[in-house]
Amino acid sequence: MENKRNIAILGSTGSIGSQTLEVVKNNSELFNVEVLSAQNNYKKLIEQALSFKPNAVVISNEKHYNEVKRSLEPENINVFAGEESLLQIVEYDNIDIVLIAMVGFSGLKPTLNAINAGKQIALANKETLVVAGDIITKNAREKGVNIYPIDSEHSAIFQCISGEFHNPIECIYLTASGGPFRGKNKEFLSKTTKKEALQHPNWDMGDKITIDSASMMNKGLEVIEAKWLFSLKSSQIKVIIHPQSIIHSIVQFEDGSMKAQMGLPDMKLPIQYALGYPDRIKSDFPRFNFLDYPTLTFEQPDTSTFKNLDLAYQALETGANMPCILNAANEIAVSAFLSDKINFLQMSDVIEYCMNTVEVINNPNLEDYVESDNKAREIAKEFINGLKNK
Ligand code: MN
Repeated sequence: MENKRNIAILGSTGSIGSQTLEVVKNNSELFNVEVLSAQNNYKKLIEQALSFKPNAVVISNEKHYNEVKRSLEPENINVFAGEESLLQIVEYDNIDIVLIAMVGFSGLKPTLNAINAGKQIALANKETLVVAGDIITKNAREKGVNIYPIDSEHSAIFQCISGEFHNPIECIYLTASGGPFRGKNKEFLSKTTKKEALQHPNWDMGDKITIDSASMMNKGLEVIEAKWLFSLKSSQIKVIIHPQSIIHSIVQFEDGSMKAQMGLPDMKLPIQYALGYPDRIKSDFPRFNFLDYPTLTFEQPDTSTFKNLDLAYQALETGANMPCILNAANEIAVSAFLSDKINFLQMSDVIEYCMNTVEVINNPNLEDYVESDNKAREIAKEFINGLKNK
């Protein structure tokens, strides 16, 4: 790399944000933190800012502004609060790459602003592409902005097609671990607890994505994400269960040849690949040992038990604002499950109901997406309240 890259990390206190800071710390000659932001966790944000000395921080929840300001002002770190500040700060001249590690729909507008300001994007927030992949990719093309995926499967695909950009893709296989409930039936799932759902066998992640992994919605969202990142049709995107999470995904070219990217599961690898592209940065992460994994196995996903994957394919087929509806309904369903308002299987019922109820808008613009998101959330909440009263 010629120059040090200046990074803004949106959502720095979450799992991906924290791991990104580890990558930066281990490669301080390559990367400099320019901006950090968090939604609520002001204590961790202050800690991170004191150790990485960014130019500015944004705390989205304005309630914590005074506390953050008091702690960071003596260090000459600019402190801002609120969603509006976040939208402005990504346009800072001194930022080269904006890493989006926020959760859910909240990542959409900051990502769009960063793209429109010509910043390169390292994207960990898959919901942004699920909701408005058409607008995001169109604006990125117009601005000459690259979107580097941090999602491990999409990073794998990106690594496989590197140097192959002129060769058409026949299809891709997104691998899925199957999560903690692989092989379980509906009877079991209707009684499972959030504690069990939060135990992912291979990856250590935030709560929302961990529940999405258990319900297979994570893979569904990733199918839609892949469509936009790699310009694929839904028939070209296949999902295969691979419980060991060693093969991170596979590309099949038109001559039948398949390329896979593999390694031990560690999100720091896709993070540093995205930040350092096209260079691979030397790391001391543990290396894969074949004899620790004498057998790599593959299974068909069980979509009659885990309906979310099918719902995501349906949303992708319908297009328009349907993936946006799917995503909003899922965000409400996951938070209702995490607060014990609905059981595990009812999450799919909430999503299906919203997909059948919220109005389909063809060729949606940004306002249509915002409106569909609001509407789907409202209807999901009504549906959940109705379940309780039955
Ligand atoms: Mn993933």
